[in-house]
Amino acid sequence: MTEHITINSRAYRLPSVPTIIVCIDGCEQEYINQAIQAGQAPFLATLSADGAVLAGDCVLPSFTNPNNLSIVTGVPPSIHGICGNFFFDQEANEEVLMNDAKYLRAPTILAELARAGKHVAVVTAKDKLRSLLGHQLRGICFSAEKADQVTLAEHGIENILARVGMPVPSVYSADLSEFVFAAGLSILTTERPDLMYLSTTDYVQHKHAPGTPEANAFYAMMDGYFKRYHDAGAVIAITADHGMNAKTDAAGRPNIAFLQDRLNAHYGPQLARVILPITDPYVVHHGALGSYATIYLRDEAQIGEVADFLANIQGVEAVLTRVQAAHRFELPPDRIGDLVVLAERLTVLGSASDKHDLSGLTVPLRSHGGASEQRVPLIFNRKVANIAPSRHLRNFDIIDIALNHLV
Ligand SMILES: [Zn+2]
Repeated sequence: MTEHITINSRAYRLPSVPTIIVCIDGCEQEYINQAIQAGQAPFLATLSADGAVLAGDCVLPSFTNPNNLSIVTGVPPSIHGICGNFFFDQEANEEVLMNDAKYLRAPTILAELARAGKHVAVVTAKDKLRSLLGHQLRGICFSAEKADQVTLAEHGIENILARVGMPVPSVYSADLSEFVFAAGLSILTTERPDLMYLSTTDYVQHKHAPGTPEANAFYAMMDGYFKRYHDAGAVIAITADHGMNAKTDAAGRPNIAFLQDRLNAHYGPQLARVILPITDPYVVHHGALGSYATIYLRDEAQIGEVADFLANIQGVEAVLTRVQAAHRFELPPDRIGDLVVLAERLTVLGSASDKHDLSGLTVPLRSHGGASEQRVPLIFNRKVANIAPSRHLRNFDIIDIALNHLV
């Protein structure tokens, strides 16, 4: 009889072969399509016939942390609690970083499978995700960014630099993601984990459009590792935390709606506080500009009026109240503002123009955060069975499909 485990109200079959879940950060589907067309992803090219190529929606905001946590918990932010890198703590009257595991409200599938006796490994590119992904996990968990600091006691593995044969990469590089895959290969062949979660960074996708030489080279690199995982007998399940789009005009200049400036000019500086939950310690490649913002108002009586004002700003796609946004996007209402604002595909939302350092934007801005970046791939090296064609797939169904629906 097959053993099952129920986590966050979903049942999962325990893995019987090494199963690798890959989250390619910022993987708009077109990156893979273009790499295949260019002949640079020969292994991925085989999977439409020999495996399964599906698509699903990520959670909103289409940011890294909410989606990585949805993937590893199997549930939306309304249940796991992580809805951005920042939220505004109204009691403390300050913006609070949500990278700490104390903000996580649900157990991860990773930790629960380890508790059930399965061998679990996690390798993430940036260290900011490590404490959330590794919460209560007894197993291997470390970041490429701090691979020189791994210890058996804290990370469940040691000597990883020597094993991988690469130096610690720069946090702003394609190499940071390559290190994740190289470390994954070493762990797959040495420790043979039952479940391994690999999470990259979107440095390349923020800088390079689908089909460019740099993007194709990045996908060629990944394709090579996927082939080696496949040849080593692993089940591979690939998805993304979010897509990626150009956020520019015809001349390559960024389309930015500076919401704090607009609100201050219209209502004075006291009424509204604009929070951009994309803000994190690594903003050089996107200037903390994404297509999602949440706004706290000092005077709740003005919510309707301010919502109308925002909806008329060029580039704004949707304005929702807290209740509407929590319901439609499955967000925790206590960690979003009075209003949630989404920008349309070509636009990003800023706070005040003098708060954004755009000097690091050496190429036309590409970013994410809105509904235009919601569609992401769900790709497997086995065929899927027993998934109703009408089922609305999400990226956080990836572990369900990988463990329950592959043949
Ligand atoms: Zn991301």
